[in-house]
Amino acid sequence: MAKLMIRNLDKRFGAFDILKNVNLEIPSGEFVVFVGPSGCGKSTLLRCISGLETVSGGTLQIDGMDVTNVAPSRRGIAMVFQSYALYPHMSVFDNMAYALKIQKLSKEEIDAKVRDAARKLQLESLLDRLPRQLSGGQRQRVAIGRAIVRDPKVFLFDEPLSNLDAALRVQTRLEIATLKQSLPDTTMIYVTHDQVEAMTLADRIVVLNAGRIEQVGKPLELYERPASLFVAGFIGSPKMNLLTGKHAAGFAATTIGVRPEQLTVATSGNGWAGTVLRTEHLGSESYVYVDIGLEEPMIARLPGTAAFEHGDAVVLQASEQVILRFDAKGARIDP
Ligand code: ATP
Repeated sequence: MAKLMIRNLDKRFGAFDILKNVNLEIPSGEFVVFVGPSGCGKSTLLRCISGLETVSGGTLQIDGMDVTNVAPSRRGIAMVFQSYALYPHMSVFDNMAYALKIQKLSKEEIDAKVRDAARKLQLESLLDRLPRQLSGGQRQRVAIGRAIVRDPKVFLFDEPLSNLDAALRVQTRLEIATLKQSLPDTTMIYVTHDQVEAMTLADRIVVLNAGRIEQVGKPLELYERPASLFVAGFIGSPKMNLLTGKHAAGFAATTIGVRPEQLTVATSGNGWAGTVLRTEHLGSESYVYVDIGLEEPMIARLPGTAAFEHGDAVVLQASEQVILRFDAKGARIDP
């Protein structure tokens, strides 16, 4: 059981402050996902936790033990990378057994641990293959298996699915969700750019912005009640529509936000009047882009196939309860 405590963590590379006073507590068995724009420090925070990077200030504790200056191999942490990093000349079995052989476990113990992990990851029929005889998704499962056999207290994933194609990503995401259920006491931290992975895998999401934690919360909490304009704009795809100036003035806010699925598109009535720029048909839903005179078009997400075309005059409508309001500093104003 591993509770992870990060206190006042700073990381500098030369003159650059990359992580600034990060404080985070992760209870045992929790699945936490780090998200944020490129370069915000997600991987650096993960690498500081693993010990691959030293910290410039602050402390890290696992189960009450200070591990700030403990070597990576002695932290009880395993890390899975997007590049898999398998040994090409070794079979799947030997790749998974490697760390256990170094630990000088008995042949029987190694065999039991590798087969147990292989069963959890549906790799049993592939144990004799070499990495080059596997698909990308299977290789990533071997990389995960190699980490599982070591019984880590904390599991770190750095964008593990980003090299896979769309269908394999979905499949492997579901496998990671199943894995999480079969290892209920293992704390997992996962870095991703993918909104769906973050929303579906996370017990809690940590949103990082320029080296600081912007908000921590359950996925739907962040989606429905973002604390700031930054989180509102970052969580959700397509992005939340943000309106300023005269569009927000009637709501006693500097900026207001409406999710694309909360907009309806009418041909007359009250609302934000504009002109359709284009409609994207995704099959099950359509995105209608409407110019209402803001810098960026508004996006309405409609179920099914919408019949709006370039040049149509439309009115966008949303019920007042779903509109989020933000003050001049970007903090959400509670209604
Ligand atoms: P991405 O989503 O693009 O992977 P990230 O949020 O994981 O980004 P990091 O890789 O943690 O971001 O990098 C954070 C910042 O630290 C970046 O500005 C990066 O250029 C810088 N950085 C990372 N590693 C080093 C290093 N070894 N030396 C100097 N600067 C570094």
